[in-house]
Amino acid sequence: MKKIRLLTPGPTAIPESVLAKFAEPIIHHRTSLFEAEFRILQDHLKWLFQTKQLVLTLTCTGTGAMEASVAGLFSPGDSVIVVNGGKFGERWTKISKTYGLSVEEILLERGKSVGLQELENRILANPNVKAVLFQASETSTGALMPVKGIVDLCKRHGMLSVCDGITAVGILNLPMDEWGIDVLITGSQKALMLPPGLSFLAMSDRAWKAVEASRSPKYYFDLLRERKMQEKQQTAWTPGISLIHGGVESLGMLRKEGLSSLFERHEKLARCTRAAAEALGLELFSSSPSPVLTTVKVPSAFSVDQGKQIQKIMQEKYGVIITGGQDELQGKILRLSHFGYCDVFDVMTGIGALELALADLGYPVTLGSGTGAVLKAYRET
Ligand SMILES: *Cc1c(COP(=O)(O)O)cnc(C)c1O
Repeated sequence: MKKIRLLTPGPTAIPESVLAKFAEPIIHHRTSLFEAEFRILQDHLKWLFQTKQLVLTLTCTGTGAMEASVAGLFSPGDSVIVVNGGKFGERWTKISKTYGLSVEEILLERGKSVGLQELENRILANPNVKAVLFQASETSTGALMPVKGIVDLCKRHGMLSVCDGITAVGILNLPMDEWGIDVLITGSQKALMLPPGLSFLAMSDRAWKAVEASRSPKYYFDLLRERKMQEKQQTAWTPGISLIHGGVESLGMLRKEGLSSLFERHEKLARCTRAAAEALGLELFSSSPSPVLTTVKVPSAFSVDQGKQIQKIMQEKYGVIITGGQDELQGKILRLSHFGYCDVFDVMTGIGALELALADLGYPVTLGSGTGAVLKAYRET
């Protein structure tokens, strides 16, 4: 027998009580039964996003909501600034170009966060830019971005702030209304403890005005049509009914935990993971480590192939699935996720399997030094 444990940055583990919801009979969406359930989900989402705005539920993954916001907010020829700190920042650029936008890209060294002065200089040099598109936490590198600072700059210069919070909402504090974030997005398979298939998108009044003026082509992602329907607890198309059913349960669990406990739990798990990395002599990859996931460099004595082996051994021998680097970072970094349905014992499991895999590959590791550091950090904070 091998028990599989998922410690990846989406999909993430799903609580048993949520899984049980997927075994229940499906209902039809054009019914009062559905509307009553959808109303509860919408209310939970407003709480999670810390907003009075309607949070749209779209049946697509997070990338779909990113595309919906680009198609929804802009018209061909519009200019935007993209903060490209990794794979997901790059995705903003690709989507924007697909819709004929002119992209001013801030290309960051991998692992780095954006400097606010650098961003402001770019804004001042391009006064016609309509929006800044960025990630709250760049999942491919583990770098945390200065969300509030970015949003403040956008406000000061009359630009929209479009935040991919796909691995941030429900993990770190992003009070949408209080900070004035114009667009905030997340996806079901991240902190929301659901399978992939839904994404969630909220917009400020300013952003909705831009949506009303947009001339970009769209059909499935017609946000005005979606808003009109969802204001009546309906959706434009057949929604992921089962996922919505599960979402009422999983968001209910998060709400019971409460926002401040939720954020504290993730901070604490990040501290425990960083303590373990230090104890194992593994260097952090990002200079602005995110509370979402911890990226560490593969020890320099390892080749790229051996670097890939660590993850492979963890999975094939120990049943613990983590992620490594993508593209040019393959075999060079390991990404240890600690969000969603995750506690200190999940972190222990991940670090334990990492220690074993490192030892299997001949890396000098004192077994228990990493897991011990996790427990100590847990107790101390
Ligand atoms: C996972 C992720 C996405 C992409 O979401 P999909 O659901 O795979 O489409 C986008 N941005 C960030 C920051 C992510 O972590």
